[in-house]
Amino acid sequence: MRLLLVEDDPDLGDALEQGLRQHGHVVDWFRDGRQAATALAGAEFDAMVLDLGLPGTDGMTILHELRARDQSLPVLVLTARDGVEARVAGLDAGADDYLIKPIAIDELAARLRAMMRRTRGRTQSVWTHGALSFDPASRQVRWRGQLLELTARELALLETFLAQPHRVLSRSVLVEKLYDWGGGDPESNTIEVHVHHLRRKIHPRLIRTVRGVGYALGPAEALSA
Ligand code: CA
Repeated sequence: MRLLLVEDDPDLGDALEQGLRQHGHVVDWFRDGRQAATALAGAEFDAMVLDLGLPGTDGMTILHELRARDQSLPVLVLTARDGVEARVAGLDAGADDYLIKPIAIDELAARLRAMMRRTRGRTQSVWTHGALSFDPASRQVRWRGQLLELTARELALLETFLAQPHRVLSRSVLVEKLYDWGGGDPESNTIEVHVHHLRRKIHPRLIRTVRGVGYALGPAEALSA
């Protein structure tokens, strides 16, 4: 998942950024509310982790503006222990969940997984597509029951396809999902290379090319055991 992290505390922000990366996510971290609001308009994120007290634009304003634009981006709010009113206001403003500081990274990662399950209408914690299965918690991929070894990028790409199994994803959207802004410019053929590797490691029909548009997950029937 590509996450937008908005937290002005440098130590907490750094810990959360590192921890979320270790859980396999692509993370863009902003300390300033105004920059975060600009970032929201500039890339397609899967979820936002939002502190409420921020310099620039505060978290509640960001949340209000987001929902006023009718964007359904899942949002988890970080609040202080004594911030009952802030939590209530955050939920009422359209936050999907909250966590109280201090934050345990494993709990944050689990909350994000649960939030994404609800968003995507999945009740199962393990995602399957034909004979392929992906466990977002352990980040293990199995093909016909066998554990696969995938690189971090291959895994992120596969997760992006499995999250939206019916959507055709353009190259530019896939690049957005796989690379944060600090990661430098990906090579022009990098998505093609990862797609090629996934097809080779799993199945030639795992990902289909939609000419002139991009890529989509192949039909589950073609990937049955
Ligand atoms: Ca703060």
